[in-house]
Amino acid sequence: MRLVILGPPGAGKGTQAIQLAERYDVPHISTGDILRQAVKEESELGAEANSYIVAGELVPDDLMLGLIKMRLMGVDGRKGFILDGFPRTAVQAEGLDGLLSSFDEKVDAVISIEVDSKVLVRRLSSRRVCPCCGRNYNLLSSPPQRPGRCDQCGAKLIQREDDKEQTIINRLEVYTEQTAPLKEFYKNKGLLKQIDGQVSVEEVFQRIIKTLQ
Ligand code: AMP
Repeated sequence: MRLVILGPPGAGKGTQAIQLAERYDVPHISTGDILRQAVKEESELGAEANSYIVAGELVPDDLMLGLIKMRLMGVDGRKGFILDGFPRTAVQAEGLDGLLSSFDEKVDAVISIEVDSKVLVRRLSSRRVCPCCGRNYNLLSSPPQRPGRCDQCGAKLIQREDDKEQTIINRLEVYTEQTAPLKEFYKNKGLLKQIDGQVSVEEVFQRIIKTLQ
């Protein structure tokens, strides 16, 4: 299974991607997670990416294409993938096609999770993450059992730097301008499947599975 998940920030791409990766036994590749890990490790990539992430801007395409190439060439890269947060621009989408065709492969389907922008701002500003295990919480819909602490590892939850209000607004604008047009790109290839992301997490998952069958 080679699946791309599209959707604005806060649509629930990560949550669905984790479950889909388990279901189809393929790696979940989140470029946002890879970049945040690089920032945490203070690597060269992290240093270069950090200012874009904090501002809610996109990291340059050449950097992202290099990163995804490395990841897909990794040990489990040939097995298939659930791509979460990539591609985000037309250049990235073309680059991905080129890369896959060099392996004689192609994207099987593209899921676009649709959520109204007012709902997104509310969701993102109430999102909290565990800095240790990466688990996501939402103070409104899926709060931790103990306020402010991760259920899984007990660490103190934090708000992502780019989940602050001004950055959220910027990220949504960037999505509308640069990423949303990819829906047309994949629609023209007959790959696009649009899913309502405003129902429960489980329902979204079931609808994705159904549309992929
Ligand atoms: P995410 O966790 O997917 O929302 O990504 C967080 C941030 O990482 C984004 O706001 C961008 O700054 C950066 N990022 C992640 N994936 C990409 C990508 N494919 N292209 C450019 N920037 C990206």
